[in-house]
Amino acid sequence: MTNYKLPILLILIALFCGCQKQQSSFQYNVDKFYDLEILRYDVPEFESLTLQQKSLLYCLSEAALWGRDILFDQNGRYNLRIRRACEELYLNKDKVQCTDQDWAAFEKYLKRVWFSNGIHHHYSEDKFLPEFDQSWFESACEQAGVEYDAAILPVMFDPNVMPKRMTAENGVDLVANSAGNYYGEGVTQAEAEKWYAAHKDDSPEPLWIGLNSQLVKNEKGEIEERVYKVGGLYGEALEEVVFWLKEALKYVENDAQRLAIEKMIAFNETGDLKLFNEYCIAWVKDLDSRVDYVNGFTETYSDPLGITGTWESMVNFKDLAATKRTQLISDNAQWFEDHSTTDPKYKKEEVKGVTAKVITAAILAGDCYPATPIGINLPNANWIRKEYGSKSVTIDNLMHAYNEAAKGNGFNEEFMIDDEIRAIYEQYGAICGDLHTDLHECVGHGSGKLMPGVTKDALKEHASTIEEARADLFGLYYLADPKLVELGLLPNMEAYKAGYYQQMMNGLMTQLVRIEPGKDIEEAHMRNRQLIANWCYAHANGEMEIIEREGKHYLQINDYEGVRRLYGELLAEIQRITSEGDYAAAKEMVETYAVKVNQDLHKEVLERYKKLNLAPYKGFVNPVYRVERNADGEISDVKLDFTEGYIEQHLRYSRDYSPLPSVN
Ligand code: ZN
Repeated sequence: MTNYKLPILLILIALFCGCQKQQSSFQYNVDKFYDLEILRYDVPEFESLTLQQKSLLYCLSEAALWGRDILFDQNGRYNLRIRRACEELYLNKDKVQCTDQDWAAFEKYLKRVWFSNGIHHHYSEDKFLPEFDQSWFESACEQAGVEYDAAILPVMFDPNVMPKRMTAENGVDLVANSAGNYYGEGVTQAEAEKWYAAHKDDSPEPLWIGLNSQLVKNEKGEIEERVYKVGGLYGEALEEVVFWLKEALKYVENDAQRLAIEKMIAFNETGDLKLFNEYCIAWVKDLDSRVDYVNGFTETYSDPLGITGTWESMVNFKDLAATKRTQLISDNAQWFEDHSTTDPKYKKEEVKGVTAKVITAAILAGDCYPATPIGINLPNANWIRKEYGSKSVTIDNLMHAYNEAAKGNGFNEEFMIDDEIRAIYEQYGAICGDLHTDLHECVGHGSGKLMPGVTKDALKEHASTIEEARADLFGLYYLADPKLVELGLLPNMEAYKAGYYQQMMNGLMTQLVRIEPGKDIEEAHMRNRQLIANWCYAHANGEMEIIEREGKHYLQINDYEGVRRLYGELLAEIQRITSEGDYAAAKEMVETYAVKVNQDLHKEVLERYKKLNLAPYKGFVNPVYRVERNADGEISDVKLDFTEGYIEQHLRYSRDYSPLPSVN
C-alpha cells in the first residue's frame, strides 16, 4: 500500500463506518490459556437504538443467559455436577493449601470447562484431562468443604470414561459411544433410529420429531421421549426464558415480531413441535425489525444422529450500513444461480426468500458462547426454507474483533509465501473474508435443488460436510467474478486473490493447527475446507504448487484463474452429489480428501505455529447490560459495560443464571 492511500482509507472508514470512536482504546484481547484466546467484542451503533429497542434487547439478552445450564447438560450428564464442584472449590481458594502450580492447573481446567460448556473440547470433542491429580482434587475439596458426587471422579480423571462427546467413527454405535446427553444411559443407536423411524412425520409440513427431546430407556427397557419444555426436561431454565420472552413482548417493534415471540413462548411452554414450525415461519417473516434473536434448540450437529437441537441464543440488531452490501448480493441471487457451473437441471428456476443482512451481536449464549459462529442461516427445516425463505446473517462486529485482535501476530509472515501475496492479503483479506461469508450464507446454501424423491438426509453422516463445501464453493467461485467488481463489492480483479490464497493455504496447511498430532479431521466445516483444498490441489496441473524453502513448505499459486476453474468444477460435482443424494460419491469424496491429514506437513505446521505462541481457537466475553429503571419500575435506560473479565463473567453467570438441578 502506498502511503497516501492510508489517510484516504481512514477518512472513508470515518465517513461510512461510524465505529472509529472506540478503536484506539477498545481492549479486544481479554485472556489466553491452553489453545484458547478470549476476546471482547464492541457493539457499535448501540446508541443509535431507541429506548424501546434497547429495552427489547435487554429482555432478550436475559432470556439468552438463562439457558446456559441447558447446554452444559446436553453436552454431558455430569457436566453441571463437575462445573459446580469446581466453581465452589474455586470460590473457596483461601481454605485450600496447595502450590501455585496446582492451583494454576485447576484454574485452567475450570476455564476450559466454561469455554467448552462441559469437559470435552468444544471443537475436537475429545475429553480434556485435568493437569492436576485426582488425589489433589479430592483433598482440596475436603479442605474447602466442597461436597460432590463421587461419580464425577472417573468422568473427570479416567481417560477411558466418556472419551468423546460425539464419535463419528465408522462402524461403532454412534449413540452409545458419544458422551453427549441427547440419549439416556443404555440407549443404542439402533434403538434410537428405530424410534425415530417409527415416529417420523412424512406429511408435507412435517414436525421435526426429536428436535426438543432426549430419548431414554424406561424400566421396561422401552424407549421414551423426555421433552424439553416448561414442566418437562430443562423446565426450570425454560421457565426463566419464557419469563423474559414475555417481558420482551412489552417492547416489540411490530406485530410480526410479536407473533414470533408469542409462538416461541408457546413452544417452550408446551414442547409442541407444530408451534415450533409456526414460530419458524413467523420468525422468517419478521424482516423489518431492527432487533432480532435466535433462542432455542437450533443446530443439530452435536447430536450423533443429527436430530436433536442444541440450545443456543444470540441477540442482535441490524448493522444498517453493512446490510446494504449483502442486500446487493441477495438481490442478484437469481443471476448467481443461473451463471454457476452446476448442471442446469440442478438449478432452482426461481431462487426466492434469500434475505441478507449483517448484524451486530449484542449477547451470545448457549452454543454461541464463548465460541461462536460467524454466520447464521435459519430455519433448518427444508420445507419452511422452500416455502417461506430463510434468514441469513453475517456478524460483522465479531469478525471485526477477530481481525483487530490478530493484527501483527506474525501468522501471515510465517505462512504466506512472499511479500506480494501478503500485501494483497493485507489490503483485501478482510473484505474477501466478509464477501465470502456473505456469498456462502446468502446465496450459497440457498442455491441448487434436490431431485424429486431425494431427501436432505440422503448423504447421512457426510451431509454437513458436503453442504458446507457446496456453500463455500459457491462463494469461492463468485469471489473472482467480474460481477462483484461491477456491483462495486470489490474494487478490482486482483482483490479476490487474497481470498483464494487464504482458502487454499488454510485448507491445505494452516487449519491443521487446530488438530492434535496424529488425529483425523472430524468437524464438518474443517472437513469441508480440506476437501476443497485437497481436491483442487490433487486436480491441479500447474495452477499451484507447494514449494519447500529451508525445510518449510509454502503454497504458491501460479494461475488464479485456473484455481477458479477448479473451484467451479468441484462445485458442479458437489451439487450433483447433493441433488442426486449420491451417498456413495459423498462418502468417497469425504474419505479421500477431507478426513486424513498429511502427518509430516501437520507436524511442521504445528511446530511453526507453536513458535508464534498464538491460540487457534477464539471465544468471547459478553458486554454487561446495565438497566436503569424509573420510580414505576419501567426501564429508563440501558447502558453498556465492557469491563467484565472472563472468570468474573462465568462466575456471575453461574451465580445468577443457574436454575437447573445438577442431575436432570
Ligand atoms: Zn454454512
